[in-house]
Amino acid sequence: MMKLLIADDDLTSRVLLENLTRKWGWEPVVVEDGEAAWEVLQQDTAPRLLLIDWEMPRLNGLALCQRIRKQSDTDPVYIILLTSRNETIDIVTGLDVGANDYITKPFNNVELQARVQVGRRMLGLQQELNQAKEMLAFQASHDVLTGLLNRRAIMDTLDKELSRSYRQQQPLCIAMCDIDFFKKINDNHGHLAGDHVIREVTQRINSALRPYDCAGRYGGEEFLLVFNSSLNDADKLLERMRLSIANTSFNYEKEVLKVTISCGVTVYDSFVEEGDKQFLIDQADKALYEAKENGRNRVVVG
Ligand code: GH3
Ligand code: MG
Ligand code: MG
Ligand code: MG
Repeated sequence: MMKLLIADDDLTSRVLLENLTRKWGWEPVVVEDGEAAWEVLQQDTAPRLLLIDWEMPRLNGLALCQRIRKQSDTDPVYIILLTSRNETIDIVTGLDVGANDYITKPFNNVELQARVQVGRRMLGLQQELNQAKEMLAFQASHDVLTGLLNRRAIMDTLDKELSRSYRQQQPLCIAMCDIDFFKKINDNHGHLAGDHVIREVTQRINSALRPYDCAGRYGGEEFLLVFNSSLNDADKLLERMRLSIANTSFNYEKEVLKVTISCGVTVYDSFVEEGDKQFLIDQADKALYEAKENGRNRVVVG
């Protein structure tokens, strides 16, 4: 059952509206003035559809509308103003300050029911739109295979973290991690096994990370990690992460796969000027290359 807020200072009107809306399948929340309505709206599971009387003590319907619309809201409420005024100018004012609809008292029950239905429909559409927007935003910034941030998103994150690190004069570490001899996994066990390994490596990376670290899929089997910590901390964490991958073999269908990763890590901590993103990535890349050259399955600080 959906909640519906009724704000009216007139008792008869309140009882009538409460009974009607209950009969129409709503769960009415009833208050006597605008301030009380405002308080209800600040709660977590506040009603999204509002029937608001115009004339009320403390805070009238018009002022309440204004206050609601001032509060930026990605999930806006649907407001129907109830008024005994029917001068055009009043109606225009009501719609102008953010009411979605109005109905003049005394109202016709069937008409009110129809208008409330329109409100429900609009709220439903709004919700679908919000969900679609959220899904699109997620898809635009995340990698499908791993659920990690994609390359563009982790680069944006790196930009933000570098500015923050400079502002707060706190070190920031970045690491490039790459699965060793990954091509062989694809060649020997098939592309699906390769995908499975990328996902499982992602899972082990995620379990090693702390909530304030970030990870992104930089390329095929390459991950960019961003740590808000000292180089020593990042190095230790990467070592743990490396071992969690190397020490426990991967199962794919009936096969047992040994997987290792190599990592290059570097730190931004001089704070003479704001960090150069590309320079840091190059540094981490060089360290990764060194890790590969020196036998793989290792972390190199560069
Ligand atoms: P190295 O130890 O030097 O990193 O060797 P490598 O074999 O891991 O590196 P290489 O760059 O030669 O091969 C990476 C391979 O990863 C090539 C590419 O086909 C494969 N690959 C890239 N993205 C995906 C993916 O999403 N799924 C699968 N299964 N394979 C992928
Ligand atoms: Mg009134
Ligand atoms: Mg590789
Ligand atoms: Mg690679």
